[in-house]
This record gives sequence, C-alpha cells and structure tokens, in this order.
Amino acid sequence: MQAERTDMNTIDKFNSHIMGSYGRLNVVLDKGEDDKAVDENGKTYIDFGSGIGTNSLGYCNKEWADAVCEQVRSIQHTSNYYYTKVQAEFAERLSEAAGMKNMFLCNSGAEANECAIKIARKYSFDKYGKGRHNIITLVNSFHGRTLCTLSATGQDVFHNYFFPFVDGFINVEANNIEDLKAKLDDTVCAVMFEYIQGEGGVVPLRQKFVDAIFELCAERDVLTISDEVQTGVGRTGKFLAGDNFGKKADIITLAKGIAGGIPMGACLSGDKCAGVLTPGTHGSTFGGNPIACAGAIEVLKKAADPIFLSQVADKGRYIAEKLKEIPEVESVTGMGLMIGIKLKTKNAKDILNAALEHGLLILTAKEKLRLLPPLTISYEDIDRGLEILAELLK
Ligand SMILES: *Cc1c(COP(=O)(O)O)cnc(C)c1O
Repeated sequence: MQAERTDMNTIDKFNSHIMGSYGRLNVVLDKGEDDKAVDENGKTYIDFGSGIGTNSLGYCNKEWADAVCEQVRSIQHTSNYYYTKVQAEFAERLSEAAGMKNMFLCNSGAEANECAIKIARKYSFDKYGKGRHNIITLVNSFHGRTLCTLSATGQDVFHNYFFPFVDGFINVEANNIEDLKAKLDDTVCAVMFEYIQGEGGVVPLRQKFVDAIFELCAERDVLTISDEVQTGVGRTGKFLAGDNFGKKADIITLAKGIAGGIPMGACLSGDKCAGVLTPGTHGSTFGGNPIACAGAIEVLKKAADPIFLSQVADKGRYIAEKLKEIPEVESVTGMGLMIGIKLKTKNAKDILNAALEHGLLILTAKEKLRLLPPLTISYEDIDRGLEILAELLK
C-alpha cells in the first residue's frame, strides 16, 4: 500500500478517492500570492475567479494570514457553549458594516440560507400560526445544494434524482411584478431573491421589481430575504448589493467572500426578526469558529471601508469598459467586480479552458463567462488578464 501511496499523482488520487461531483480542470494549484495562483509545476495564473469570489483579499494577504495564524496558535475552536472575544469583535464589526441588528453564524451559503428560511417560517408561525409557510423564490435563482436550498433554487435542472424535495417554495419569474402579485397570497411568509443572480448568469434584477418586492411585502408583513452569498461583502462596489438598490431586506445571508477563503456563512436579521431564534431552535457546531472570525475581521477592515469600496467599483467599471471594446463581446452585465460576459459566437467553456492554458483563471455562469476577481486585484494584473482574454476572443 505504501508504494501505491507514493506512485499515484495528485489527480489519480482524486479520481480514486474523491467522489465525482465536480468537473475539475486539469491543474493542481499549489500556492498563491495576491491575485496570482501557482500550480505544482510552477506555472503562474492571474486569477479572475478568486475561488468563486471567496478569496476577497486574494491569496495569502499578509494581514489576513497573520491574523489567522495568530488565532490558530491561541484558540482554534470552542463550540458554541462558550463565548470568544474574536467572535464578539467580528459580530460587532459585521453588524455595523451591514447595518443589521444581529446574526447567526455558520459555515456556508446553503447553511446561511437554511437559517433564513427557518427564521422566516418561525417568525410567521409565532405571529400567525400554521399555514403561512410558503416562500417565494425566483426563476433562475440559486440558493445552495442542501435539499432545502435546492428546493428553493428556481432552476429545473437542479430538481432531479433527490426526490422528494422540501415543500413550500413557489417560483416567480424575475422582474415580473404581475406574477409576484398573483402568487403573493396569505400562505406566503417570505420572498427570497438575489439582487444579481450569480449562478444564473450574472443577471441583475430591475429596480422596479426590487421596489415592488419591498412594497408588496411590507403591506402584508411578508419578510424579504436577500441572498447576498455571492454579492455581499464588497463584491459589487458597495458593502451589500442592496445598497446599490437603496434597499435593506429583513434577512440577509452572506458567505463566499466573508472570511477571505475560510468557510463561513452568516444570516443577518434586522429588528423584526431579532428575537425569532430562541435557545434550542437552531445551531451549528462550527458556526462562528474563531479562525474564520479572525480572517473575517481582516476582510471587514478593508471591505467595509468606503474608499476601498469605491476602488472596487472603479475597477469594475474599468474592466467592463475594456471588455466592451472586444468585438466578440455581445454584452457585459453585473456590478463592481461581479461581471458576466455574453459572447457573440464563441463557447464560454472553450474560452475558460483556453484561458487556463494561457495563464488566466476565469469562471462561467450558464452560457456566459463570469469574472469574480479578488477585490484587491491590481490594475497591472487586470490589464494582463484582459490582454489574454482579448487575444482568446479574437
Ligand atoms: C454560492 C451560492 C450559494 C451556496 O453557497 P455554498 O457556500 O456553496 O453553500 C447560495 N446562494 C448564492 C447566491 C450563491 O452564489
């Protein structure tokens, strides 16, 4: 067995031992620095994907790495039977940055959304009793991979194999106010949405539709839940994507970029839902883990700063303008450093593979190319990455 362990290369080991739930690219990433990743052969890649928007400060940012290492060496985990200073400091900072009264901390986007769904149902049950448990979600949305969040996800491709799905989700067409009105009946306790549908192809909601959600929900005491797992923590050039629409939902979920590449999710609530979760109603062993909190504090020190945020917005505009000069680009969508690119004739997956060959990491979403670079990316590397992309799109 010893021989086998030393003979197999990394990819063979994956193929032997890791379940085949992902289509991976043929590269073993080994190290990273700022906005560049390095593979096991020493080849460098400019990273326009940042681990699907998680490495918000790039790879191994100095202050972030120092804070994380210091935390690992002082206390790495306690469970939620105890208090820790680092979780308290993080919660205070996040509450201030998001303008939300309080939060439940967990480990992923799906888990944050599960919490939001539980809060919405219990809020309604506490106040109105049974029968008001349905949650409206949007067609083409994405809310996660657990059974409940898959059920919430408004894309039929995800509704296979795993029957029965969780009841109580009603899909409304995005930007269709009449459809929303028709389905917002007295069985509904919440409307859950992404301001910009990320996995759905970087598709922003229209302001009018967002206005209608908030107006109709307020009239009926129906909660608004904004899934900001991808759009939150500075990604769109504001701390929350809702700030671009002048709106704050009753419940906001965050994950991906929040701790700079360490697993963390957060479900934030305003005054209305602050007291819904009582002892014993919800939990998560690792939730609010000190290492994640230490990393997240360093992310907030930057991502909650208005100057940093305006730089993110500037970089986003700069990239979008450059992309629009490429003849093969049909359209550019998104906000800040969350960018979708629709191509005229070329296939996005082919471009992603070719980009890898040429030292550039990018993402796709549906039929589009998707860029989620680290928020700290330099203009130099933006230019170099865009040069590679422009060449591939010739
Ligand atoms: C990625 C994503 C999720 C799921 O997050 P996980 O951490 O993978 O569970 C949920 N909602 C949105 C909008 C996302 O982009």
